[in-house]
Amino acid sequence: MMNKNIVVIKFGTSVLTAGKKTLNKPRMVELVRQCVQLKNAGYQLVLVSSGAVAAGRSQLAKQCGSSLKEKQMLAAIGQGQLIHMWQTLFSLYDISVAQMLLTRADVEHRDRYLTARDTLTELLYHDVVPIINENDAVSSAEITVGDNDNLSAMVAILANANKLILLTDQSGLFTADPRNSPDAELISEVYKVDDELRALAGGSGSSLGTGGMATKLQAADIAQRAGIETIIAKGSESDVITQVINNDAPNTTFLRFSAPLEGRKKWLLSGPKSTGTLIIDKGACEALINHGASLLAKGVTSSQGQFKRGDLVTVKDQNGRIIAKGLCGFSDSELSVIKGCHSSQIEAELGCKSSHEVLHRDDMVLLEYVL
Ligand code: GLU
Repeated sequence: MMNKNIVVIKFGTSVLTAGKKTLNKPRMVELVRQCVQLKNAGYQLVLVSSGAVAAGRSQLAKQCGSSLKEKQMLAAIGQGQLIHMWQTLFSLYDISVAQMLLTRADVEHRDRYLTARDTLTELLYHDVVPIINENDAVSSAEITVGDNDNLSAMVAILANANKLILLTDQSGLFTADPRNSPDAELISEVYKVDDELRALAGGSGSSLGTGGMATKLQAADIAQRAGIETIIAKGSESDVITQVINNDAPNTTFLRFSAPLEGRKKWLLSGPKSTGTLIIDKGACEALINHGASLLAKGVTSSQGQFKRGDLVTVKDQNGRIIAKGLCGFSDSELSVIKGCHSSQIEAELGCKSSHEVLHRDDMVLLEYVL
């Protein structure tokens, strides 16, 4: 059951530093005050906090921080200071906080995902505020989430949250870049993240954090499908958290889909990274999208990348459009033999008993609903 009162709030680096290079204490005091207000109103909070790299940078006399290795070092230096700051401020209100550092690898395997979910649930049950960041020091290219926007969508799913609030240096998504287009208008509601919106979002926004509007859209897209409302708002706005909850602050709200995915499918959406791609024909696209069918070998025209049986793969149509993600019943080498075959021929082709479906519908999430 979705808990109506669990809210995940993500603080971008630009919010915690008030646009400067180091953590801004008055800003953090103010944010904690607002969080406590929300908590007192009956909400359970999970925070996703960036700012470790910025905090680390302020502790080193020597200028550095452009290479990945240096950023990882700075995160390792700054994470302690960051959590200490949160802890000190929440303790003024007798509220305990907990640190959880996650990487994609921690949610990739279903058992680790469930363990992380249980820890979060237990913390909330004991009225503790979990404060989450990516475990930057151990994140290599394969396991990194890379930005705290996508991390916060992952966390919102883990926490079974109802709302995800992304606080940043902009009030939301605009029709043009508001920093150089005075006519830019704020988009207040988004039903579905599409290519047009992605084009609007462009690349990275602030120079301080990792994300930008593009990663916020990715996060909102995942959260919407999981049944979580996502809101982008400006962290420097006074009383922004309360205002967002009351829908008073300017913001962009991404409405939740009406038929959210069930638990295991939410994990598929948030957890594993796909290692390969299957290209499917028009008939298979129709069967998947219009009839919720499983993907059969007959509809697969080719595959790309290397994957084992049980790995997550992305499904694309002939035009390269992403249709679905799912756990593949065959390896890439098996698929190269059986692609285009009728299901009854698979056993003979592979010389052994195996799955009938390439992607079973229970192991697949559809990402495109309209043909
Ligand atoms: N994990 C990074 C930090 O704590 C931030 C990543 C991001 O800005 O998205 O500094």
